[in-house]
Amino acid sequence: MIGMNQQSMNGINKHILLKNIIIHEPISRIELSHLTGLSKMTVTGLVKEYLDEGIVRECGVAESTGGRRRTYLQAVPDSLLTLGIYVGRDNLKAGIINLKGQIIQSESMELSVMENNDVFLKGLFLLCDRMMQTRYKEKIWGIGVSCAGPLLAKDGVILNPPDFNNIRNLPIVSCLEERYHLPVCLQNDICTAALGEVYFGNRNQYDDFIYVGISAGIGGGVIMNGRLYTGFSGLAGIMGHTIVEKDGILCGCGQRGCLEMYSSTRAVVKWARENGAGEELTWMELLVRASKGDGVCRAALERMTEYLEVAFANMANAYDTQCFIVGGDLHIYQKEIVKRLKEKLGGRSFSWGQERNIHVESSSFIGSASFIGTAALVLEHNAGI
Ligand SMILES: [Zn+2]
Repeated sequence: MIGMNQQSMNGINKHILLKNIIIHEPISRIELSHLTGLSKMTVTGLVKEYLDEGIVRECGVAESTGGRRRTYLQAVPDSLLTLGIYVGRDNLKAGIINLKGQIIQSESMELSVMENNDVFLKGLFLLCDRMMQTRYKEKIWGIGVSCAGPLLAKDGVILNPPDFNNIRNLPIVSCLEERYHLPVCLQNDICTAALGEVYFGNRNQYDDFIYVGISAGIGGGVIMNGRLYTGFSGLAGIMGHTIVEKDGILCGCGQRGCLEMYSSTRAVVKWARENGAGEELTWMELLVRASKGDGVCRAALERMTEYLEVAFANMANAYDTQCFIVGGDLHIYQKEIVKRLKEKLGGRSFSWGQERNIHVESSSFIGSASFIGTAALVLEHNAGI
């Protein structure tokens, strides 16, 4: 099987080098040595293994200082493939994703028909079997599962996500391992999206950032030093349940005043409905009406944004992050939210004179970060990161 030979002759997990090639390509052996701290000899040895296996190729030569020539390297996109699975609230998606984060093939299925774990698994296996029957099968080196929380990533179990029909306590990782005999890893959709940004996003100048997904729920994925930080119990960055209002609205998690009760798309629609925007109002309609000047809809977005500003400031202080990358279902309001948060957080200085310039950017992907990120999840898993 391809890619299973992770331990190189010298005992180093060679996929750590592959991560750096994917993120920084085109890159020379010397630059790889500087980046990873591995000796030039080790890098040269590992790169030779990649070249022999067709995972990496040489892609050009440049003169460097002293007249020495440097050969640049890049990953061969389709040499190692991920079977990516995305379990969303409404749909289930499976597909094949390459080392550049490109979706080669995918299929999805409505989730509303899933009555229980068994029905869900049948649908999941059906989609995955189809992917395993393609000509790409031989190159698949792992399965990455991205799912709306709550879940136990380390144990590979989906717990009982809200609005998830009747899927609960599903050991999805062991089910997939048994059937396909491949490495399988599970992570929540927001953390997976954050990893997708690290590997395939156009913001890879940031080693420290928090990806924030704002949709019917709100989540954060914390990246520190280019790696996902999940915390002691796997809940780091659980931004939707940071408290922005003392004694505020009761949340499904049991706390009061959680951000999700004020700034999720669902909460914003609820508030607008309660304030006279009509019982049938949807999130998309709310956005359109606000853009046309509707008072209640605009007030709803204003309220949403103000609470986001509080939560972002708290997260910035807790994690001392370099950047926030904002994604989710904000659609035409995305730009405005990014602009507002930028104004609030950029160029801030504390009264004692310490300056901090926190960046706020839009996600590189529209709607598919959580799915594409499964390829990064598998690479991290296979690299033992
Ligand atoms: Zn909560």
